[in-house]
Amino acid sequence: MIKEIMVKSVLNKHKKRDNWFLDDYSINPYSGCSFNCIYCYTRGSKYGENMGNVLSVKINAEEVLDKQLKIRRNKGEYGFIALATSTEPYQSIEKKLKLTRKLLEIILKYRFPVHILTKSTLVLRDLDILKEIDEKGIIPDDLKDKLERGVIINFSISTLDDKMAKILEPGAPAPYERLKTMQKCKSAGFLTGVSYIPVLPYISDLDNELDNMVKTARQYGADFVFIGSLTLFGNRLSDCKTLYYRFLKKHYPNLVPKYKKLYRIFPQPSKEYRKKLEEKTTKLCEKYGIRKGILT
Ligand code: SF4
Repeated sequence: MIKEIMVKSVLNKHKKRDNWFLDDYSINPYSGCSFNCIYCYTRGSKYGENMGNVLSVKINAEEVLDKQLKIRRNKGEYGFIALATSTEPYQSIEKKLKLTRKLLEIILKYRFPVHILTKSTLVLRDLDILKEIDEKGIIPDDLKDKLERGVIINFSISTLDDKMAKILEPGAPAPYERLKTMQKCKSAGFLTGVSYIPVLPYISDLDNELDNMVKTARQYGADFVFIGSLTLFGNRLSDCKTLYYRFLKKHYPNLVPKYKKLYRIFPQPSKEYRKKLEEKTTKLCEKYGIRKGILT
């Protein structure tokens, strides 16, 4: 079901810059997402619910963003805008509505830099406008000596296994389609990379899998790689924890006890697990000569 909604605000200012993605702001043109990833953190977290059933389009987003960015521009409060953080900016309906594109035009008008987070091939449609933002976007003063680009294009992948991706991310383009799209962005001169977020414990976080993921990202021209763990929220039927355990019970019943141990109390896996994942990422990035993160 598609719903049209009016919003009072579309530009979210973060209390603090995101250490990984460098964004000070975020914009979500839609609420909900037709890609329907079962692990999507918005299912069951405070960022969304019933994602599979309702997709809301923020029909006054252009007008609201224009006002909000004008104020920020007048105060000189430049910063990267993440587009998007709790929805897919290039999901199927975007082809027809062009809402993300219209928002990019406003971002260009006020010369804000942008970080595109996507699983879609449709981003290629907007490379013309992204090229202009890349050249004209004003980088915040404290990042100027580290980054000279107004656009970062980041592709999210949780597994390179096509069959698995079809189960986990039923509405999204296949992982290698995303990689080929990244390659095209790279050939067009953009700063681009892969966020392997989330990797799936005991499935896509195995040493050989991670090695292949970093190597493949390098082969397809990524400038940087992120690897992040899976979060599991909620106990209601449509929450990602419930959906993910249903997936495990069907396809990997032997892993259920291991997950129960790893996700005992919190939505994140244990600290030790995350530390190990971080160490493995560092080693693999060194091995394949690729940056672990945008700046490092
Ligand atoms: S593409 Fe992103 S926002 Fe959409 S369902 Fe998947 S994880 Fe959630």
